[in-house]
Amino acid sequence: AIYKIPRAPPDKILGLTEEFNKDKNPNKTNLTVGIYKDNWGHVTTFPSVARAQMVLDQSFEMNTDLSYLPIEGCPDFQSNVLQFLYKESCPEGAEFLSKNRISFVQTLSGTGALAVASKLLSLFMSKAVWIPNPSWPNHANVFQNNGFKRINYYTYYRDGGLDVDSWLQDLEQAVRDGDGSPQCIVLHACCHNPTGVDPSLEQWRTILDKINELNLIPIIDMAYQGLDTGDLHKDAYLLRMSLDEERYQWPNGLFLCQSFAKNMGLYGERVGSLSVVTPADTELKLNIDSQLKKIVRGMYSSPPGYGSRVANVVLSNPELKKTWFKDVQNMASRLQYVRAELGKRLDWPLLNNTRANHGMFLYTGLDPSKVDQLRRNHSVYLVQDGRLSLSGLNDSNLDYVCDALKKVSE
Ligand code: PMP
Repeated sequence: AIYKIPRAPPDKILGLTEEFNKDKNPNKTNLTVGIYKDNWGHVTTFPSVARAQMVLDQSFEMNTDLSYLPIEGCPDFQSNVLQFLYKESCPEGAEFLSKNRISFVQTLSGTGALAVASKLLSLFMSKAVWIPNPSWPNHANVFQNNGFKRINYYTYYRDGGLDVDSWLQDLEQAVRDGDGSPQCIVLHACCHNPTGVDPSLEQWRTILDKINELNLIPIIDMAYQGLDTGDLHKDAYLLRMSLDEERYQWPNGLFLCQSFAKNMGLYGERVGSLSVVTPADTELKLNIDSQLKKIVRGMYSSPPGYGSRVANVVLSNPELKKTWFKDVQNMASRLQYVRAELGKRLDWPLLNNTRANHGMFLYTGLDPSKVDQLRRNHSVYLVQDGRLSLSGLNDSNLDYVCDALKKVSE
């Protein structure tokens, strides 16, 4: 009955912005959401994206089509994104493309890709998933909403650092304790959210070997491509390593959930993709294509059009694409600048560890009571787990925020 619907807790991250908006302190600083802001605190459109919008505006044919997109998305988007991901970012992928082994749907950004992937997996393959501890809080929510029965956490970060040994032990234990049916594992492709700490390439090699040995199904969540090194292509290293076919076959497929929210600043347009790299079998790829379409049709029918048209222009116009690479480089550099400025003001060892510390977030290690103090006494808003979104910092608020951070950590 309707009165049995209980109250759901507010979203852990977006709920804080509601509170922030009500805060009257003129120095209030919102360091919660992962949206890129420039040094003036503005969310701006990247020059490449703004130019692409102008191209669209001026092109009658390109921008007047307000009709539905196909269920699987815009065909140009599919070819542009496949080219970008599996030829340019990951040349190892070209072979899979030419053998027609990649199922693809345009999705409602990265979250939509995770939703469609988890639905497909839970319908046909697996209802158990391993998520890093900690992780983006919405991972568990998405998998749960789409039929997963077992949401488990593997050790990722402990005592201020990555703990790969415990991670691998947890996975071995998982398979030992499991019922023999396949289990999935979520891997953050780069710029792990919330910690900002990723394994090194050597560590990834060991981890992928273990995942392969244990027959887990990899789900690569690539929401921050380009924000790690500033080089979009380079940042796809986990995809490149995973598609080394001499080493790994992925008999249950490999899932890539990819987003243009952060690296094109297309947050609200919901532009992203799910691709499933399948074993060599023509029928199988067609079966998966058909099931993906059936899932999308039942979930939201078809994706929105405008954002994918913008992405198409950026991806297909060589000049704009070059500008886009520069835009992403600028964003990554500013995030590094903010880190360095924090390092000058705060005596925190984690700020000196530049390799193990990149992307949009800084995991401060502040406990929830300190995070509360920051918010109540200084109107500086972090996520409760101590995650600080670096892009909210700039030349005008760095001193204020660092003073506040010093005061609460004394
Ligand atoms: N995965 C991770 C780890 C994220 O941090 C995000 C964005 N916060 C997403 C996926 C998906 O974001 P979006 O749906 O906006 O592309």
